[in-house]
Amino acid sequence: MAENTAIEWADHTFNPWVGCTKVSPGCDHCYAESWAKRAGKAAGVTWGGERRRTSEANWRKPLQWNDQAQREGRRFRVFCASLADVFDNQVPPEWREDLFELIRKTPHLDWLLLTKRIGNAAQMIEAAIANFDIGYVPAYAAWPWPNVWIGATVTDQAEADRDVPKLLAVPARVRFLSIEPMLGPIDLTGIAVGGGHGHHEFDPIITGNVLKRAASDAPHVHWVIVGGESGPGARPMHPDWARSLRDQCAAAGVPFLFKQWGEWVQWQQHPDHLPTSGHDSGDPLEFVKTGKKAAGRQLDGRTHDEFPA
Ligand code: SF4
Repeated sequence: MAENTAIEWADHTFNPWVGCTKVSPGCDHCYAESWAKRAGKAAGVTWGGERRRTSEANWRKPLQWNDQAQREGRRFRVFCASLADVFDNQVPPEWREDLFELIRKTPHLDWLLLTKRIGNAAQMIEAAIANFDIGYVPAYAAWPWPNVWIGATVTDQAEADRDVPKLLAVPARVRFLSIEPMLGPIDLTGIAVGGGHGHHEFDPIITGNVLKRAASDAPHVHWVIVGGESGPGARPMHPDWARSLRDQCAAAGVPFLFKQWGEWVQWQQHPDHLPTSGHDSGDPLEFVKTGKKAAGRQLDGRTHDEFPA
């Protein structure tokens, strides 16, 4: 991993601003809020209060990464934003315009815009780039940009049913799902899509596999990341939930990344298969709190680190 992020699927993390408001059960143990509490005044934000734009020096970093990527003939994945949400209604729209201008100027970086507010994404992207000109065409005519991946966080079936259709309605070269923290089983093979999500108000509702749509040009999900919850108060993830998504992705030929178990691991998935003190019944459904590091990131004895091309 690169200098400034420990996130398994990104080379760099960039926060254009910090601060957010909780919007889903996946926010219950928000890492960013804990960070803000720990940092105190230095964070410069109260969770749920005003957002704070980061420094000019911080905003110059992606330009440096872009230069390095060009020099070395490679691409870096940039996770934007770990301490905020790009599509947050409470962020001044000019900040988002500046962010998209930065994205436009850094074509050697792949920008991963992951949000818990996917319903805002299409309209906010359109507004953010409406005044740019790229050559002779207004920027939105050239959207989707090849260096932007759009992701939605969902944690259970209800959120997947609600938000996957919204994700599919956002034009993007790569659409991905981050299912972390995974709080319940999710079946992506029977999601109802259409009926007014996004731009296509009169689309019929079609229920099917969003990893592999029947029409080859129909929007679908290109990548799935799964992870358990970490941090204080973390909830366990049942291995069968992760296995099911692994198998759904394999059947559809969609890349799957298993990020972590989180704080808990099922007794039979324990790295040494040894019960820890107080948890020695051997019940296969019993969970052991080992901490994130010891729980690791192997699923049925192997790591899954697949990425879209
Ligand atoms: S959307 Fe993300 S950053 Fe915002 S409160 Fe929820 S978990 Fe935290």
